[in-house]
Amino acid sequence: MLSVNEARERILSQIKITATESVALNDSLNRVLAKELFADSDYPPFDNSAVDGFAIKADKGGSNRTLKVVADIPAGTAPTVILNAGEAARIMTGAQLPQGADCVVPVEETDFNDRKAGTTPPKTVTIDKQMSVGDNVRPRGMDMRLGDIVLNKGRTLKPQDLGLAATLGYAVVSVHKKPRVTLMSSGDELLSAGAPLEPGKIRDSNSYTLAALVLNVGAEVVRLGVARDTRESVTNLLEKAANERADLILSSAGVSVGAFDFIKEVIDANGKLDFWKVNMRPGKPLAFGEYRGITFIGLPGNPVSAFVGFEVFVRPALLHMSGAMDGSRPKVKIRCAEEVVSDGRESYLRARIRLVDGIPSAFLTGHQGSGNLLSLVQADALLIIPAGVKCLPAGSEVDAIFI
Ligand code: AMP
Ligand code: MG
Repeated sequence: MLSVNEARERILSQIKITATESVALNDSLNRVLAKELFADSDYPPFDNSAVDGFAIKADKGGSNRTLKVVADIPAGTAPTVILNAGEAARIMTGAQLPQGADCVVPVEETDFNDRKAGTTPPKTVTIDKQMSVGDNVRPRGMDMRLGDIVLNKGRTLKPQDLGLAATLGYAVVSVHKKPRVTLMSSGDELLSAGAPLEPGKIRDSNSYTLAALVLNVGAEVVRLGVARDTRESVTNLLEKAANERADLILSSAGVSVGAFDFIKEVIDANGKLDFWKVNMRPGKPLAFGEYRGITFIGLPGNPVSAFVGFEVFVRPALLHMSGAMDGSRPKVKIRCAEEVVSDGRESYLRARIRLVDGIPSAFLTGHQGSGNLLSLVQADALLIIPAGVKCLPAGSEVDAIFI
């Protein structure tokens, strides 16, 4: 049996990264950057005021100086005035400091009390505060320097990254193409979500969970529906999947050792199949290979196994395909609030995380059977019990990934 890590490494080593494309900055949220972003200037690009007030030259002269107001500098203008001794300029937040000034007195610290919008500056201003060079000034280059690499390639763009890119003048960015995933379920027992229950049947949940997981990692999904448990139906749907020119064909169920599990056989006949038993729970059977040259991953059918298989194998594969630097979810240490038993396989157990005496603590969410979807829905995290461990006493620390 392969370890989880060995299986994941085998998959990742065969994944090809998607090509790049240019997209408008507005369309780049959650996309993976394909070229780093540079600062095209110092930022801020000029010394500017951090407050609304009066720009002056710092002086040693103690209290109560009255200065002549010789200019008014709103944001967005380039001042031409040069301040001399005994002079001040009214200045707004973000406006460029005039020559001769090296600090800004906030308006609240002056005798100028009229702060309504639209008021003209006073002829003179009296200041009752010791000021030092640099007070309330945001100096040129304090945030970024010309030529700095500020976002690396492989970064998944967040909202604040878009703001930074806009600051640097990128209206268009180079990103990796979204991986395209064709998704199919399989099983004669499966009804669609809108259908009434019938004897012997259940509703297809994997199509919905897996499609949403695919979208959540920033990939595109093509939903192909359900293959029946016949060689013909499985072949038809896989042919349809191949015609979609996807980067990945993802299926659930039909990869075990059941008498109607045709997926492995059809993949093998028209491509390449590696079938692995992975030393994990849930989700032991995993099919990996190619169908007509397209990467194929066959997840188990049980809804929790399919979810965990996606988290452990498909998510990193899709992120790697998208050019993302890091496809692993951060692991955090959580304290077990109760004893946790395992069967010695690397286990992914569903748990609620609550604070107990201020410490994040894990409580299992009921029955851990791989068909029990409700206990997955109730969970905040999956606890990762390492292979070889059969019991963790209450109070032990365990790795967890938040879902
Ligand atoms: P199989 O791998 O085909 O033997 O399926 C294993 C278990 O998962 C069976 O109990 C199936 O009914 C169930 N199952 C398979 N596919 C789905 C699906 N798309 N939605 C919900 N349950 C499923
Ligand atoms: Mg089946």
